[in-house]
Amino acid sequence: MTDLQPVRGTRDLIGEDQRRFRHVADTARRIAATHGFDEWTTPIFEDTRVFSRTMGETSDVVMKEMYSFQDRGGDSLTLRPEGTAGVCRALVSNGLTQSLPQKVFYAGPMFRYERPQKGRYRQFHQIGIELIGPGEPLADAEVIACGWAILQELGVAADTILELNTLGDKESRAAYRDALVAYFTERQAGLSQDSLARLERNPMRILDSKDEGDRSIVADAPTIGPHLTADAAAFYAKVQAHLTRFGVPFVENPRIVRGLDYYGHTAFEFVTSKLGAQGTVMAGGRYDGMIAEMGGPSTPAVGWAAGIERLAMLMETPPAPPVPVAVIPIGDAAEAAALPVLQALRAAGIRAEMAYRGNLRRRMERANRIGARAAVILGEDDLANGVAQVKDLASGAQEAVPLADIAARLA
Ligand code: ATP
Ligand code: MG
Repeated sequence: MTDLQPVRGTRDLIGEDQRRFRHVADTARRIAATHGFDEWTTPIFEDTRVFSRTMGETSDVVMKEMYSFQDRGGDSLTLRPEGTAGVCRALVSNGLTQSLPQKVFYAGPMFRYERPQKGRYRQFHQIGIELIGPGEPLADAEVIACGWAILQELGVAADTILELNTLGDKESRAAYRDALVAYFTERQAGLSQDSLARLERNPMRILDSKDEGDRSIVADAPTIGPHLTADAAAFYAKVQAHLTRFGVPFVENPRIVRGLDYYGHTAFEFVTSKLGAQGTVMAGGRYDGMIAEMGGPSTPAVGWAAGIERLAMLMETPPAPPVPVAVIPIGDAAEAAALPVLQALRAAGIRAEMAYRGNLRRRMERANRIGARAAVILGEDDLANGVAQVKDLASGAQEAVPLADIAARLA
C-alpha cells in the first residue's frame, strides 16, 4: 500500500500541525462568541447552483476551481469552495430572513482545484463570520474588529496589515466600470488572456490579477475614489471612523476588490509579508445582493473568511502539547488496583496514561518520554496501606498519598 499517498493538494494534520490548526479554530470560535456570533454548520456539498449563482458563472472559482460531480441520482453537486454561499442558502432555507440580525460563525473544509503551493491547497480550511441584516457602516466596522481581535488573540496581528477599500454603491460602480473599461481597452494588447475575458464580463476583477504583465498595467489604473457618490463616500468615511474608535489600524488600498456584482461598499484584506505570495490571511466585504440571489428578500450582509492553514503557519509558538500524568503499577496486583486510579484521574479532567507493559524502569522512561508532569507509582507494599507514591517529575519530590486523594492532589 506504500503507493497510496494523500491526494495532491491535501494534507494530513498530525502532532504540532493538528495542534496549531485546532488552536486557530478554537480561538476564532471563542472570540467570535464574545462578539455575539453563533456557530452554524452547513453541509460540505451543496447543489452546484448555490455557488454558480452567488459566485457568478464567470468567476475564477466557478469556471476553473470547483469540485463538481454528478451523484448517483444525477444531481449536480459541488464540494463547497467557500462558506458564505452555504450560510446564505441556509438562512433562506430555514426561514430566517425575517429573524434579523443573524450573526454567524463557521469553520470547516473548503475545496478548490488550484495549483498547490505553500499556503495554497485543494482542500483547505476556513473560519469565517457573517453579519446578516444591518446595512449600517457600524456593522462593517464590527465585523472587521472581530477579525482583528482574533488575529490579536492568535498573536499574529502585528504581522498583518489591514488594507481597506470601498467599492461604493451601484451608481459609483457603474461610473467606475466605464472608467476601467476605457483604460484597459486602450491597453488590451498588454493584457493576459484571462484579463481580456474579464474586460468584457467584470473589469474590476482585472485589478486582482496575479499576472505580472497585468500588474504593471493595473498599477496606473484609475481608482474608484473620484467616482464615488456622496452617499458612498459618507458610508466609507463612517466605516473608517468606527474602525478608529475600535482601535483597529488600517491603510487604504484602492486595489482591493471583490469582483462580483453583489459586493459593494466595504472590501478589505488582512495581509502579511511573511507567507510569500500567499499573503492574504483574511478577506471580506459587504455583499448586500447575495441573499436575494439565493431567492430570499433583499438583505444587507457583511463578513469575512480566513484561511486556517495560513494563520496556523503565521503563529509563532505552537500550542503546548497536553501534559499527562503517568500511572505506574509494579506487578500484576498493582496493575489491577491501578485501573480505578486511572478512572478517577480522568474523571477529574486529568490526562492520565498507563503503559501496557514493562517493569518500573521502562515505565519511568516512557513517562519521561511522553512529558508526564507526575508519576503515580503503585507498589504492592504501599497498596496494602491504601496509598501510592506521587512523584513530581520536574522536582523529583515524592510523597505517599491515599488512593482516594490522588486525583484531587494532582488536579
Ligand atoms: P487568493 O487570492 O489567495 O487566491 P482568494 O481571493 O481566492 O485568495 P478568498 O476566496 O477570499 O480567497 O478566501 C479567503 C481566505 O481563504 C484567503 O484569504 C486565504 O487565507 C484562504 N484561502 C483561499 N484559497 C485558499 C487555498 N487554496 N488554500 C489555502 N487557503 C486558501
Ligand atoms: Mg483564489
